[in-house]
Amino acid sequence: MDSLRITGIRAWGRHGILPEEHQNAQPYIVDITLFLDLSKAGENNSITDTVDYGQVANLVASVIEHSTSDLIEALAQQIASTVLQISKIRRVIVTVHKPHAPLKIPFADVSTTIERSRIAHDSGEDEINDDASELKSNDHGVVQSSIHSDRSHDHQQSQSRPRVHRAIISMGGNLGNVRRAMREAIVAMDGITGNQVMGISPLYRTTPWGMDDHAPDFYNAIVELDTLLDAPGLLKALQLIEAAHGRSHAVHWGSRPLDLDIIDFDHQVSDDPSLTLPHPRAWQRAFVLAPLADLEPDAVLPGEHGGKVADLLAACPDKDTVRRVSDEWIVNGGSEEE
Ligand code: ADP
Ligand code: MG
Repeated sequence: MDSLRITGIRAWGRHGILPEEHQNAQPYIVDITLFLDLSKAGENNSITDTVDYGQVANLVASVIEHSTSDLIEALAQQIASTVLQISKIRRVIVTVHKPHAPLKIPFADVSTTIERSRIAHDSGEDEINDDASELKSNDHGVVQSSIHSDRSHDHQQSQSRPRVHRAIISMGGNLGNVRRAMREAIVAMDGITGNQVMGISPLYRTTPWGMDDHAPDFYNAIVELDTLLDAPGLLKALQLIEAAHGRSHAVHWGSRPLDLDIIDFDHQVSDDPSLTLPHPRAWQRAFVLAPLADLEPDAVLPGEHGGKVADLLAACPDKDTVRRVSDEWIVNGGSEEE
């Protein structure tokens, strides 16, 4: 598989076994190799077909600066899982150097290297089997190794592997600290056994419509999720997360601290009122279509009103009510005050 490599990303962080290492920052250096398909980027010479390595470097620096671990292994793991949230990246190799580690004898450097990959899809080809046997022995972290993609080596076991579904979730709200609620919801979704957040869109701000004039603006974003839950199970989990953030279903269409909707689930189509797929109003909501098109430029919604998301957005009458306010909100909370 094609790769992009960034070496020597430097930032100061507080990681280590000793209490003073959590007090006093020291330099860390990270080398990271990203594995992804670069054929389109090569043909089209277009940044949207690759990943922005400047953004990846910022993410890595931000994890070094803002997380705290005892071990460089844990720091490397945190970096790998953060970078794997960029949906184009299939696999990463992360090396963390700690050249000022507190050793009693002179030394040049200490480092750890880990390799992590994302779950493969039943629907897709096995993108990450080029060195699968090595991955198997190394891969204990970001992904559930039991459902790790390696069909050619382990065909029998693959028969009984649970099915991985791809869900598109929309998040929104307009009461309280919505951006924090949305960040916590992402962590909660990712924390459910069998779930893996695969992508997070930029943050949008939306003027409400059909509500009274004093209703505060909404914040909206889209999350791409791999899940072992079925669609009703996922909806139940999302409703529990909504409830934990004070959401009551009493006021339909009303202001709310956090709304989590399933926009698409494996391109299933259903008119069940308790779980309609794709979400019945997604095709005409700019606050769903715009962040989804950012995250997956080729995204398509199935069903009667379906089509290419970018086209649905272009035809959307309320497309001017949405404003992209932050690309890095998940790291810095968005540029506006909390
Ligand atoms: P909305 O999100 O449309 O503003 P609510 O969040 O109050 O409204 O949803 C009300 C009901 O919609 C929920 O009880 C749920 O069962 C149902 N529903 C139907 N399809 C979906 C879907 N795709 N995602 C989320 N909820 C859905
Ligand atoms: Mg809802």
